[in-house]
Formats: sequence, C-alpha cells, structure tokens
Amino acid sequence: MAKSLSSLGAVKTIAKVTKPYFQSDARPGCAVIGAGPAGLIAAETLARAGGLVTVYDHKASPARKFLMAGRGGLNITHSEPLERFISRYGARAPQMEPFIRAWPPQALRDFCAELGEETFVGSSGRVFPKSFKASPLLRAWLVRLASLGVAIEPRQSFVGFAGEDGLRIRGSDGVEALHRFDVVILALGGASWPRLGSDGSWVKGLSAAGVAINPLRPANAGLCVVWSALYRADFEGQPLKNVSLRYGSTDDNATGPEPATARGDIVVTRTGLEGGPAYSLSSRLREAVDGGQSTVIHVDLRPDTSQEQLARKLSKRPPKQSHATFLRRAGLSPTEIGLLREASPTGLPRDASVMAYLIKNAPLIVAGVSGLERAISTAGGVSFDACDRNLMLRLLPGVFVAGEMLDFDAPTGGYLLQAAFATGRAAGLGAARYLGLTERDAPSVWPDHAGFEPRHLPNSLELAASNK
Ligand SMILES: Cc1cc2nc3c(=O)[nH]c(=O)nc-3n(C[C@H](O)[C@H](O)[C@H](O)COP(=O)(O)OP(=O)(O)OC[C@H]3O[C@@H](n4cnc5c(N)ncnc54)[C@H](O)[C@@H]3O)c2cc1C
Repeated sequence: MAKSLSSLGAVKTIAKVTKPYFQSDARPGCAVIGAGPAGLIAAETLARAGGLVTVYDHKASPARKFLMAGRGGLNITHSEPLERFISRYGARAPQMEPFIRAWPPQALRDFCAELGEETFVGSSGRVFPKSFKASPLLRAWLVRLASLGVAIEPRQSFVGFAGEDGLRIRGSDGVEALHRFDVVILALGGASWPRLGSDGSWVKGLSAAGVAINPLRPANAGLCVVWSALYRADFEGQPLKNVSLRYGSTDDNATGPEPATARGDIVVTRTGLEGGPAYSLSSRLREAVDGGQSTVIHVDLRPDTSQEQLARKLSKRPPKQSHATFLRRAGLSPTEIGLLREASPTGLPRDASVMAYLIKNAPLIVAGVSGLERAISTAGGVSFDACDRNLMLRLLPGVFVAGEMLDFDAPTGGYLLQAAFATGRAAGLGAARYLGLTERDAPSVWPDHAGFEPRHLPNSLELAASNK
C-alpha cells in the first residue's frame, strides 16, 4: 500500500500491530471495510482473483441496510434501456457510465439467479427478487463468500490510516490496532439511517488524508406533513396508489417555483409521506422549507382521469346517499377520502366540479423534509476527481473506494443498489489489477469453510430496534 500514507503520521493509541490472517500465506492480503453490497461484491471479486480477503464492519452483522431495503421488497435494479438507466445519475452520469456498462442490470440479475434468487420485472419496470426479500440472497451470498475464503470480522471500526501502510481498526473492546494489507477497499456507505451502520464517520479519517469529499446530504427523503390525529391514527402505513405529486404551478402565467411533478405510489406515515414521488420532490422541497418555512404541494389522486370526467361521474349522486358512501362507491379509498378531508378541513365540497377539482389538486402543507436519519440515500461523498478510473484514490495508492460513499445521487427505482454493486465490482477488479492478479473462475471451496453457516442475521424488528 501507499508510501504516501507515511505523511499521515503515527497513531498514538495503537495497542498492537497485527497482520492476522495471512502471515504464512503467499496470497496478497486485502482488506475490505464495510460489509454492505458494495464491500461484499468487491470482496468476492478480489477473492476470485486470488486475494486473501478480510471484510471488516463495525456492526455486529453484515449488510444491515441491504436487509432493510428488503423490507420494502428489495427493488434491486431497473429494466429500462441502458442509456435511460445511466441518465438517472444526473450530473454524475458521465462518471457512473463506465461502471454501469461494465456491470449492467442484467449482470446483477444473473448474480441473483446464481445465488438462487430469480428476479422479475414489475409493472413499473423495476426489478425485484421473486421472494421480495434480501435475507435469502444475503444468506446464500455469505455462504459463497466463505467458500471463497473471505473472512468477515464484525464489530471492527475503520478509524483512519497511519504510517507507511497502516490501517487503523478499532475493535469492540475499544482498543485500536494497526493492520497492514497490500490493498484496501473502503465501502463505508453514506450517512443515511446511521443506526444501520453507515454513519459517515469515515469522513474524518479520509479528510485527514487530504481526500476531496463533498458534504454528505440527505437524498430521497420523506416529506413532513402535519396530519390530524384522526387521520394519522386511521391511515398510518396505508398506501396511496398511482398518484401524482406537484410542486409549483403548471400555469404558464403563474409566478413562484418551477413546477415539478412525480408520479407513483406513496405511503402515509406518522410524520408525512414516503415513497418514490415524495423522494423525488424532496431536494426541491428542502430548499423551499429551509429555515423553518412551510410550503404547499398538490396531490392528484386520479392522474389518468380528467377533471371533467370526474365531475361527470360525481354529478350522479343519488339524493339519499351520504357523501362519504357516494365517494367510496365512486372508487375513492378511505385513505384517499381522508386525505381530501385533510386538504379541505372545512368539509368536503358538495358540488361535483369543485369536488373533482379537489381530487386533482388536493393541497397539503409540507412543513419539512426528513434529515439523514430517515433519508433513503446520501448525496455527496468522495469526489470522483479524487479517484482514478479504477476507483483508486489518487492520493493513497492501493486504497480504493466504492458504493454510496462516492459522490453520486440517484432516485429510487433500483439505481442505488445497482450503483453500489457496479462500483464495488469495479473497485474489486481495480484492486486485483493493482496487485497484478487477474480474475479467474471461482477457486475450489476452501476446506476450512465448507459447510459454513452464516451467523444469525437480524430480522426486520431487530433491525429497527437494535443499535448493535
Ligand atoms: C430503508 C431503505 C430502503 C432502501 N431500499 C432500496 C431499494 O429498494 N433499492 C435500492 O436500489 N436502494 C435502496 N436503498 C439504498 C441502498 O440500500 C444503499 O444505496 C446501499 O445499501 C448502499 O450500499 P453500500 O455497500 O455502498 O453501503 P451500505 O449498505 O450502507 O454499507 C456500508 C457498510 O459500511 C459499514 N461501515 C460504515 N462505517 C464504518 C466504519 N467506520 N468502520 C467499519 N464499518 C463501517 C456499515 O456498517 C455498513 O455495513 C434503501 C435504503 C434504505 C435506508
């Protein structure tokens, strides 16, 4: 690893110096820090190339955010044409393109199938495993990694670098040790949902090494809406299917913010709204609510039906039927009718055309946008300018970075996991090349690991509750 690391100075708190796994092994020693999808695919790639790989993670078990993504069905990638897929990375599309082209969505689907998890394309073009879960995939993957000789060391925190080629790792006992490896891959994630492991604590260690990092910011965040106690009690957790959210006016003569719309399914939560359309407006809305202001969005509950069509349908109410019963019979769900009541606190309009207008333009006050603790992903991170095309840090030869800790952003839809896998794979290949290794077919099973059973993986309740 890098001579330039010597400029970082000695570490005072180090209790022991170790090279634990490969003292008597001729294979190059490779450390991967971060056992999320980016780190695990990097580890697999390096192990297949002949590296002796140890994965460190500061949580008690690997890939907690990946498991949490499985709670939402695990939208692992997207089936749209590659050009369009790549455009989803916005300003970072040029930087992401080579990695995605080298390991495209089909490669990820093949990878899942090899691990026994067939995938399918949903009606929106999103790709999911048939089980809608992450745990079977992760279990099978951990078994395969063990068979490739990859060791996973939980409760070990990356602190920073030291000396000529030292990696500072703090164990669960709080004691810091200096490890030496031939290459290091950092796959430490962003900073959203920090209790799942990726907490952005790596920024300090890398900044100290002079690596350019753009500030970490929440992305794909939920919207905070102040619901009435009744609506929250009755409808928390309920979906609103195929709606369109609008911010700003689409009227050409209107002043105010540039209009933005987003369509899809959303979920009513205790604090507001979650789901693709809410996430996609979140960056724009964050600017509007900065400094404690609130702003208004409009919900169109029937984006495929015109106001006139709705008004015609709603004008046929039998005289004796209650308004709520009529709206339900007209196809509105209780969650939708409740939302209309939230948007019109003085009561639902009786006039069919006014009601039709409300269904297509229900105003909701957005009081804020979720912070990093609840955002789905993180914008900002290690600048691509700080990396070469193999994702090796220019200032720290032998140190590679991958996954969400890189400075890219993308909407939900499978683009985040695809990016984590594709960049993890690229970093693994880059590190193998740096060591003069070439990827080869899977080596035979290492005898020590035959019959390996992964440790207990947390279930969703444990994930939500545990800080360990
Ligand atoms: C609720 C939720 C649902 C999601 N659903 C989807 C989805 O359906 N589709 C999709 O594409 N994306 C989804 N995502 C995003 C996706 O999970 C992430 O983009 C992806 O996990 C990033 O992978 P990664 O390997 O880069 O980082 P992570 O998965 O965050 O892994 C980083 C690892 O590094 C470890 N680590 C961090 N710092 C240290 C340190 N100092 N020392 C040691 N270890 C450290 C962490 O413990 C963690 O295990 C979801 C995210 C959330 C929060």
